[in-house]
Amino acid sequence: MAITMQDFQNSLETARRMDQDDPLHKWRDEFYIPTHQGEPVLYFCGNSLGLQPKTARPMIEQELKDWAQHGVEGHFEAERPWVHYHEFLTDAMAKVVGGNACEVVCMNSLTVNLHLMMVSFYRPEGRRRKILIEGGAFPSDQYAVASQARFHGLDADQVVEELQPRPGEHLLRTEDILTKVEELGDELALIMIGGVNYLTGQLYDMEAITQKGHAVGAKVGFDLAHGAGNVPLRLHDWGVDFAVWCSYKYLNSGPGGIAGCFVHENHVKGNLPRFEGWWGHSKEKRFKMEPSFEAIPSVEAWQLSNPPIFQLASLLASLKIFDQAGMSELRTKSECLTSYLEYMVVDAFGSRDLVITPSQVHERGAQLSFRIPKGGRDVLERLKQRGVICDFREPNIIRAAPTPLYNSYEDVFRFVSILKECVHELS
Ligand SMILES: *Cc1c(COP(=O)(O)O)cnc(C)c1O
Repeated sequence: MAITMQDFQNSLETARRMDQDDPLHKWRDEFYIPTHQGEPVLYFCGNSLGLQPKTARPMIEQELKDWAQHGVEGHFEAERPWVHYHEFLTDAMAKVVGGNACEVVCMNSLTVNLHLMMVSFYRPEGRRRKILIEGGAFPSDQYAVASQARFHGLDADQVVEELQPRPGEHLLRTEDILTKVEELGDELALIMIGGVNYLTGQLYDMEAITQKGHAVGAKVGFDLAHGAGNVPLRLHDWGVDFAVWCSYKYLNSGPGGIAGCFVHENHVKGNLPRFEGWWGHSKEKRFKMEPSFEAIPSVEAWQLSNPPIFQLASLLASLKIFDQAGMSELRTKSECLTSYLEYMVVDAFGSRDLVITPSQVHERGAQLSFRIPKGGRDVLERLKQRGVICDFREPNIIRAAPTPLYNSYEDVFRFVSILKECVHELS
């Protein structure tokens, strides 16, 4: 029986019943849940580092075994031959972001991919030099865009434009983003925004932003660190030029896991300038060691090096889970689970004043951010002592992400009662 928001009640019994009725609840058993004093923790940090699928270890062990048994021959003779290994992830990853197979590749890490993409898509020329980014973007993104501007001999302060919420507001309004794009017009070279804001949890209207960006002649890319494996994405249909994301957050590939990269089909066969390496060269001719580069006619042309197989292995383990559970089923549960968290917080605190994440379901993913009135960092410490793992961001934000693969309604129920205690003890 499907669970709906009408079923919400502030009782442990109801939470447990919703878990019983949840068709995805069984996936929780496929993950290792860390413990605190012998009990599973309430883990709400899947937006920062996803938990370990139980299938990750055997998947990595297979590669250790193949290495032991075959040495260098493992490139061709391993159970999953290493020369092709990244291809085994493509279809599942493409489904996660709504791309075609020729548009999606797993390689490098997020910030590296962001730079590689900007080499191709940020081509300042004449009046068209500006990069539009959201204010307070994740620091790595800020450093990346500013350093790209300087790389082209430009003054980053003059070139990088930041979107800011209206005075007294925490969130960006879509209309304001679109107006800004229009104002920048033919000065705008690139829009590069975090599709889901890491701090507020706001999910932006990527389709509308892409359309407007293209209407003024700009390129449009997204950092989907908080989007991939979390919210519905249709990068191909939206016409997004490029996107990059990491896989260790919602995609559960493990610390420092290999990242993803999307380049729209419209660009993969063109002759965009790009930094090149041997793994982007024609697969048939790679081992002929010829001096001139012949690009693979897909996003794989942006690959530089032969990839880290152990990292691909743990990501493959995780992507198999996403493929079986299904992104749309996960999103259905996620909307309900996050709404239940919001419902419980409103019930416990008497209002949603604490919550800075949008109230509209289509404007958020699996995260609520709370502005803690007093002693934010101490609240986090107290939560931890009671077996709750969340995180804290300066100056006073606690972020909690109920992820649909391994969090339960009971987790949410218990979390909110502990949060209430901790906030009240410090106020
Ligand atoms: C997590 C995150 C990153 C991390 O970058 P790495 O290159 O993987 O270290 C970058 N940008 C955003 C928006 C993030 O949330």
